[in-house]
Amino acid sequence: AKDLLSTGEKDVATHLHSYTNLAALPQTPPLVIVSGDGIHVVDDQGKRYVEGMSGLWCASLGFSNKRLAAAGAKALDTLPYYHTFNQRTNVAVADLAEKLLALAPVPMARVFFANSGSEANDSAVKMVWYYHNAIGMPAKKKIIARRNAYHGVTVAAASLGGLDGNHRDFDLPIATAPEARFLHVDCPHHYRYAQDGETEQDFSTRLAQQIEERILAEGPETVAAFIAEPVMGAGGVLVPPAGYFEKVQAVLRKYDVLMIADEVICGFGRTGNMFGSTTLGIQPDILCCAKALSSGYVPISAVMVNDKVHSAIAANSGKLGSFGHGYTYSGHPVACAVALETLQVYEDEKLIDHVQALAPAFQAGLRSFAERRWVGNWRGVGLIGAIELMADKAARTPFAADRKAGYRFAALALEEGLIVRAMGDSIGLCPPLIITAAELADLFARLTRAMDRFDAEMGV
Ligand code: PLP
Repeated sequence: AKDLLSTGEKDVATHLHSYTNLAALPQTPPLVIVSGDGIHVVDDQGKRYVEGMSGLWCASLGFSNKRLAAAGAKALDTLPYYHTFNQRTNVAVADLAEKLLALAPVPMARVFFANSGSEANDSAVKMVWYYHNAIGMPAKKKIIARRNAYHGVTVAAASLGGLDGNHRDFDLPIATAPEARFLHVDCPHHYRYAQDGETEQDFSTRLAQQIEERILAEGPETVAAFIAEPVMGAGGVLVPPAGYFEKVQAVLRKYDVLMIADEVICGFGRTGNMFGSTTLGIQPDILCCAKALSSGYVPISAVMVNDKVHSAIAANSGKLGSFGHGYTYSGHPVACAVALETLQVYEDEKLIDHVQALAPAFQAGLRSFAERRWVGNWRGVGLIGAIELMADKAARTPFAADRKAGYRFAALALEEGLIVRAMGDSIGLCPPLIITAAELADLFARLTRAMDRFDAEMGV
């Protein structure tokens, strides 16, 4: 009888899902995706969807790139596995490290490899702590992050994050005696949190001052690093207000606080430059990337460190006899080969030029919803953006949580054959970078139909 179970039934009975209401799963069985082509994915009923989120912000080359498949197959055939511990390496990892250093938005000295964005951020945290021990500043341990940030789900990465659902009942942020090491400051969402009449520049000044006050209150000798996504993704696609990173980094430099850029979403063209740091004017000491590094086809992430950080870490490891950090799959030859090919495809297909060429149409598409009854705000840069649904636009009042407005909108979009992401009531879009102008128009036509149905349901 077991063989007769459908995939959905089998899945509900056996699979402990990520980010899913597990209690409700039997009533809301999962969508079974069986294949993909270009920017589309297909479910087990044969229905095609425009994947408006590139899966989880990662499949930048869509779902059927043959060059990546061939690179993976060749690597599996040549050297399916080897590690990078104890002075071992492989051809692909050395080539990929060289390539990433050449692409880096600021001069970087070395690249460390891991398997996921969470692991990259965890590794960055450990490197920050190790670095400050190495330079004789062992009290400098606190890391400042932002509310609504998303940095992953491992214990340190989730502690950095600023979304309640990643903390509540997981006993996070982790408590590290004698003092908290993970601090949170306000997020740069001008539309929601600016005071009446406050310009973007004034709002940025206030947030930078808040960071300075926090550093002074904690004691500058205890604050090690600041971590930020150039554009906050899971927090609702928050493009920072004018002047934000310039003002924040001036404060960080004053107190010798390292800057970590979490480029897990923004890296590799998403914002119209190779890295979001370039678009937003960030000069990171440490840069974490993942996702589009392999177009999501294989798990791989990377942490780039500048010379200041690397030389201190290297010297300390000399004293201790080893740098005691690394994963079985750090620099996995198959993952590195696929990542290298991904970067080559970006270059061969001039994908960044393509993103820059399409960005105005993407933003015009988002802007076309600005006057809709329930849309309070839209924002976007490159090919990442969101529209935010609000119960009362004039008063800037959000919908009550139990109306599940964003969730309902995403369900309507799905019926229209479009996958979007509801982050609260912000509807995120992050389509594959290979999307054509005609496909983009189709995406917005579907979004418009979903909005028409949403209007009808909510009452115009
Ligand atoms: N950092 C950012 C900005 C992310 O968006 C994500 C995932 O969405 C992560 C880190 C965590 O990456 P992963 O899910 O690969 O661990």
